[in-house]
Amino acid sequence: MDYEVVIGLEVHAELATKSKIFCGCKNEFGGEPNTHCCPVCSGHPGVLPVLNRQAVEYAVKAGLALNCQIQRFSKFDRKNYFYPDLPKAYQISQFDLPFCKDGFLDVRAGEKTSRVRINRIHLEEDAGKLVHSEWGSGTLVDYNRCGVPLIEIVTEPDMRSPEEALAFLEQLKSILKYSGVSDCKMEQGSLRCDVNLSLRPFGQAEFGVRSEMKNVNSFSAAFRAMNYEIKRQAKLLDEGKPVEQETRRWDDQKGMSFVMRTKEDAHDYRYFPEPDLVPVVLEQDYIESLRASLPELPAARQARYLEEYGLSEYDAGQLVAEKEVSDFFDACAALCPDKKELCNWVLGEVLRKRKEAGEESPVPLRPEGLAALLALYREGRISQKTARDVFETMWTTGEDPAAIVEREGLAQNNDAGELGGLVRELVDQNPQAVKDFLGGNTKAMAFFVGQVMKATKGKANHKLVNELLQKELESRR
Ligand SMILES: [Zn+2]
Repeated sequence: MDYEVVIGLEVHAELATKSKIFCGCKNEFGGEPNTHCCPVCSGHPGVLPVLNRQAVEYAVKAGLALNCQIQRFSKFDRKNYFYPDLPKAYQISQFDLPFCKDGFLDVRAGEKTSRVRINRIHLEEDAGKLVHSEWGSGTLVDYNRCGVPLIEIVTEPDMRSPEEALAFLEQLKSILKYSGVSDCKMEQGSLRCDVNLSLRPFGQAEFGVRSEMKNVNSFSAAFRAMNYEIKRQAKLLDEGKPVEQETRRWDDQKGMSFVMRTKEDAHDYRYFPEPDLVPVVLEQDYIESLRASLPELPAARQARYLEEYGLSEYDAGQLVAEKEVSDFFDACAALCPDKKELCNWVLGEVLRKRKEAGEESPVPLRPEGLAALLALYREGRISQKTARDVFETMWTTGEDPAAIVEREGLAQNNDAGELGGLVRELVDQNPQAVKDFLGGNTKAMAFFVGQVMKATKGKANHKLVNELLQKELESRR
């Protein structure tokens, strides 16, 4: 392809406040339609909005976590448009004075790290939801989501491939979750993104005409939508046809996008200052107290794992991707001397079980439990295979590993006399395998180890068995 891809993103994240942005209604996903509503959020005439302090706090925290300048003076504006899911016929949003400006996120995609600038983060209210029901030919409106606080994060067009945009989205999600400002559940719509994409010939400074894609409901859908759009625009350009500035709707089932409307400009919304809300002035002390309340963010945590624990950059990156996993690792690390071994267990067994249980499910293990299990293994009291089996049981029952080992008789067999007898017996019974071994066939060794493990139900000390076998086989030379 002869074109450079230029991508900018607009990401909406619903804030994890208890109540809505301008009224006391519950901010909660689901519920019977139109049960989390009041005259304010359903747009009755004459009602007045009252700003939710926590929503401002979360918007500012998101800005701080994304290296933004926090605006001491901010205000809300009305964005006017008509749609059935917006009963007031305007959305309270922010136009020229958003809470956060000029941030950035350093994004690692593959081997490359690049800086994606964040133009702004503003606070606004969400709209309701249209329900296209199976009951008939109509459409229903559910206002439960009306007035849920949202932040919109607008990037500069700094991404140059769908892979880079995807990495940005993943890291952004991780940071928002670490900061506690949003649960970022894409399947519940708490994180949504619009993709602006254009192409230009390599070396050209001006951007090409961009399209905006909406209705992208998952990161994988965003990735497919971007690749589709690249092909569509490249074909137009190859044929010498213009790319229209338009808003398109991504249909993930069909794997295609469709024109929704030709692009509107800001003045079409007739923005004006919201007359029912006073401007917001933030004291510097307040901003600093929010900055201090941010937890250690993924990039800092990754650096700490490299420095303090000597983990590889890749492993550390995997560990910090999700806060819950990383918190669990940290809690265990305080109890385990061998961090590398712990890292292998968390990235291997813990992530595997967690994936089985469903993405983002909680880790049911206590850090003390995993630490005790690793100690049993390290002290040679259980074999590696037993450790894995006990781990499985612990995951389901939450029991103490020593209790499981005791009850099920799983203690490792370290009895050199007993194992030595068993080894001699097996070597006597398998002259062909002995010949193979002495002939240099390494598989013969694995065969004998397997036989000993089978005979001891996996409880024999692996290292000891290897030593005994080596000695016994060599003696037959
Ligand atoms: Zn309400």
